Amino acid sequence: MDKKIIIAIDGFSSCGKSTFAKQIAKKLNYLFIDSGAMYRAVTLAFKQHGIIQDGKIDSSRYKQTLQEIEVGFSLNKSKGVYEITLDGTVVENEIRKPEIANCVSIVAAIAEVRERMVDLQRKLGEQKGIVMDGRDIGTVVFPNAELKIFMTADPKIRAERRLKELVEKGINITMEEVLENIRERDHLDQTREVSPLRKAEDAVILDNSHMTVDEQMEWVENLVNSRIH
Ligand code: C5P
Repeated sequence: MDKKIIIAIDGFSSCGKSTFAKQIAKKLNYLFIDSGAMYRAVTLAFKQHGIIQDGKIDSSRYKQTLQEIEVGFSLNKSKGVYEITLDGTVVENEIRKPEIANCVSIVAAIAEVRERMVDLQRKLGEQKGIVMDGRDIGTVVFPNAELKIFMTADPKIRAERRLKELVEKGINITMEEVLENIRERDHLDQTREVSPLRKAEDAVILDNSHMTVDEQMEWVENLVNSRIH
């Protein structure tokens, strides 16, 4: 019988981590968790409570709000995926908007925010059989994950992919704005003090600049097999 494992997928913004992680989870019948969605949900809550003004956090109020909000996941049975919830409401669409993307990296740099999200992420992984994508999954959340992948791709290619996704959702944004946001998030994620984005020593690098999702699935097949048997 196959062993249930934890698969940690980290990497830069808009590398297609979630798409890839989702496919692996589907193939193995594992739980897929998008940890970035959790930081986005906290950002949405902070915006709704007026804690982020002009891109700055009100440091006197965020702790209280962080204690009061509830971030979770609920199963969308028709789609067969878990969707992010904030205080019990599905906020999958709201958290993908540019106004959230523009502020999420400053929220994700707050130690108390990370502490709460990491606790929740570890609980979700208690039974193993999980694929989680993010920035610190292989380094901090699950340092003992059986398979760690570090994803990267050319920033321009990442921006093109993200722009296409946003335009399909009816969001009006230019290529320059998307590229600028990606560059800024990469920078903030790599240079923050708490859990900066970095490759775990034992992670395998995947540069998918010129790879389709099918090619990425082919690439990962042997790796997965070597860890579950
Ligand atoms: O993955 P996604 O781009 O949706 O993540 C949004 C933001 O959340 C990232 O830019 C990063 O700042 C933060 N994040 C993080 N740690 C994670 C996942 C996401 O800091 N594990």
